[in-house]
Amino acid sequence: MKALKHKIIQEGNVLSESVLKVDSFLNHQIDPVLMQQIGEEFASRFENAGITKILTLESSGIAPSMMTGLRLGVPAVFARKRKSLTLIDDLYSAKVHSFTKNETNEISISKDYITSDDTVLVIDDFLANGEAAKGLIDIVYQAGANLAGVGIVIEKGFQSGGDSMRNEGIRVESLVIIESLENGKVTFREEKTTI
Ligand code: 5GP
Repeated sequence: MKALKHKIIQEGNVLSESVLKVDSFLNHQIDPVLMQQIGEEFASRFENAGITKILTLESSGIAPSMMTGLRLGVPAVFARKRKSLTLIDDLYSAKVHSFTKNETNEISISKDYITSDDTVLVIDDFLANGEAAKGLIDIVYQAGANLAGVGIVIEKGFQSGGDSMRNEGIRVESLVIIESLENGKVTFREEKTTI
């Protein structure tokens, strides 16, 4: 996705050989115009998949999920990372180890919002080792729902999550795939372009 690559080139900050910081448009400040384009792109890729719900993880997955939900005309549900006083219903939960925070959270959603009638698109901001996406997929299966696939804004192709899910036959659609962050540079997979 051209606009997203352009934004990464202009504003992305390579923190290490494995971490890219994109706080100016995705993880802290949010660029609504870019989010709308991201929503359009996910929606067009999954248009014919019969999606009834989008499932993501708070907080950075919410913006792209909402824009996709708006375009597909379906609700977006976000799993919570911490138990909330108001989240008292029956819950689906899964354990997720955070790549960036190096801590394990139990993520949960109320059983009210995903049911066996749903066809779910899982969306997240980044894909590294696939822990977050696999936790969300676990919740989809616990609910007896159908998994349409996984939509990722930025996949780091040098980490194992994407390959491992694709090998399991899961449809993974990433808007950009980063091949490497070596030497402080972002190299995208497709064109092998370096910035
Ligand atoms: P995974 O669960 O696939 O190992 O990691 C994905 C999760 O970790 C995403 O939800 C995202 O919040 C965070 N993450 C992983 N790698 C990066 C990165 O390079 N930059 C940022 N900003 N977040 C990342």
